Amino acid sequence: MTARQRIIFLRERLNYYNYKYYIETAPVVSDFEFDTLLRELQDLEAEHPEYADPNSPTVRVGSDITNEFRSVEHSFPMLSLSNTYSTEELHEWIDRVEKEIDEPEFVCELKFDGTAISLTYEQGRLLRAVTRGDGTRGDEVTENVRTIRSVPLVLTGEGYPDFFEIRGEILMPYASFDRLNAEREAAGEPPFANPRNAAAGTLKQQQSQVVARRGLDCTLYQLAGDALPHASHWENMEAAREWGFKISDNMRICRNREQITEYIEYWDSERKALPFPTDGVVVKVNRYADRRALGATSKAPKWAVAYKFKAEQALTKLLKVTYQVGRTGAVTPVANLEPVLLAGTTVKRATLHNADQIAALDIREGDTVYVEKGGEIIPKITGVDLAQRPSDSRPLEYITECPECGATLVRYEGEAKHYCPNQSDCRPQIIGRIIHFIRRKAMDIDGLGEETVELLYENGLVNCAADLYDLRAEQLAPLPRLGEKSAENIIRSIRRSVEVPFHRVLFALGVRFVGETTAKYLASHFRSLDAVMAATREELIEAEEVGEKIADSIIEYFADERNRAIIERLREAGLQFEAEQREAASEILDGLTFVISGTFADHSRDELKAMIEAHGGKNLAAVSSNTSYLLAGSKIGPTKLQKATKLGIKIISEEEFIAMIGTDETPRATARKSAEDDDANCDRTTDEKPRQIQGSLF
Ligand code: NAD
Repeated sequence: MTARQRIIFLRERLNYYNYKYYIETAPVVSDFEFDTLLRELQDLEAEHPEYADPNSPTVRVGSDITNEFRSVEHSFPMLSLSNTYSTEELHEWIDRVEKEIDEPEFVCELKFDGTAISLTYEQGRLLRAVTRGDGTRGDEVTENVRTIRSVPLVLTGEGYPDFFEIRGEILMPYASFDRLNAEREAAGEPPFANPRNAAAGTLKQQQSQVVARRGLDCTLYQLAGDALPHASHWENMEAAREWGFKISDNMRICRNREQITEYIEYWDSERKALPFPTDGVVVKVNRYADRRALGATSKAPKWAVAYKFKAEQALTKLLKVTYQVGRTGAVTPVANLEPVLLAGTTVKRATLHNADQIAALDIREGDTVYVEKGGEIIPKITGVDLAQRPSDSRPLEYITECPECGATLVRYEGEAKHYCPNQSDCRPQIIGRIIHFIRRKAMDIDGLGEETVELLYENGLVNCAADLYDLRAEQLAPLPRLGEKSAENIIRSIRRSVEVPFHRVLFALGVRFVGETTAKYLASHFRSLDAVMAATREELIEAEEVGEKIADSIIEYFADERNRAIIERLREAGLQFEAEQREAASEILDGLTFVISGTFADHSRDELKAMIEAHGGKNLAAVSSNTSYLLAGSKIGPTKLQKATKLGIKIISEEEFIAMIGTDETPRATARKSAEDDDANCDRTTDEKPRQIQGSLF
């Protein structure tokens, strides 16, 4: 792989991880892994400035903006922090500051592991609360934040500016986190991976009552405004405490490297006793004048750095390895451990991933093992303490048959996991598929948790998702724990699910590798289930986000008679198999046809396609004499380019296309904008650009 290819690969990976982390609040890799890849990209970009890109994840703040909230511009940019896991790098940063600033004063603080929030107060009253978003704009979540008891709605004391922002972290204390996950598991919902995700996910809830119940907390760590009472961070934080804000008691002024190191060492161990999660220490320059002199990059201030703690480890005994079969038949080995306290929660189980992982670490039952909670996703075993291995220990033999149905396991080419191929008769696969189908993000069928699905299956009432639509209340009512009222509610909820939009139906089918995002892309690209089913492998790969592996899986799924039979029954039940018609924005492209190729700076290909359709144009997959325009981005396919040139077809850039339609709004963005415009009180700062000079202070 060349440096350029690696840069492109890393950017795509990191953008995907950012999406999972910030938007879906369901990270797929640990923070350490993410930070290591980001560092590699930073180094490569420094070595190859010719490949610089203003949209690279190294220069942009990871965005949490969704479509579900009104987005509001920050008065001052809300940046991230440069971070390091190495003391050496921290020392280099201190050296740099000491070189530029005479006798700098540092403030050391805990790095709270939650989600950032900016609160605006006017005349001592909470006006709005906005998430960090992309650093320039964020989602407005005021109603949700109002339910957090530690956020003062009206300030006390005196001396606060008429109008100011205060920034901090919304956290979920461990006690609330454990309670929430216990409730979710009881309701058959997937537990949150860690308190950070739980806090971020909760803040983006649509119902404030739900937020109120979840026990969030809010600690503030930064004041921003034009008329702050004091010239240093420390003094302003002390003042903010008097006004009623929750300000950490664990901040400390440090004047040199030794004092900073002492603070870090102390909290690396003491933080384990705190009732809320932290993932490091933030070291900030105290005086605003010094901060101004140091400045900021587009992503982070130069006057602060986060020193992140390495993942916590614990030693415990591996009692037994069991095997779980998922809805796709994938087998996951699970380590059952002697319970041990790790990063604030008790760990009893850890994933062992697959047979290769077990072999690589030579993990055996009875071993004393190291357990780690990296980005605190699912704990994993990272090593074995061989000194404590019992003398009669024997290598672990991986199972060859499905622990649930006895079928011989298979291992597909290129796959690390073993699979049970018995889709139709293996209990956890059948139940798993139905549970996936009813999930909130899929068909959102209320009242049917994991236990009820199992009950229906045991009683022979459901064997696949289509069976749900044949259920009658009188069949459910006599079942244990149900009764007439719940039975009717379930039936009502099943009936209501026929309104669920097409992209969620596609996700609900549970095609292997087709997650929520891919389903959205497929729906917006193909517009109907019939079109997805009829698509060839090549046509599938044409859709963004669909690689060869996903395309093969889709083809395999629809080639299976059993799946096609289920789909026909779902069609009869009235489920949405077509994407909603997009509202026409204009007729300006009426009669024109477009082929899109390459990647674009400001829009995805699917967004551009949507724009073409919204303005009356038509998208074509291949260049022919019928094509009016080839909309060309970077990395355009050479065949398309050659063919277009040969046929004399006009080739236009993204900017030319935007100029043609007179707007760069995607149909979806149009809807959001107009909702904002309707709101007269929208936001007093929306027209203003964030104030860059002041921004470097905050
Ligand atoms: P960050 O979390 O490393 O640091 C910035 C944030 O720290 C601020 O936005 C603020 O919310 C918070 N913070 C906590 N205490 C603070 C204090 N006392 N003072 C100032 N700020 C404080 O940076 P980020 O941009 O939010 O996230 C980037 C990090 O997130 C990455 O380094 C990575 O570890 C993680 N991440 C992980 C994945 C993944 O898939 N695991 C994906 C994206 C990002």
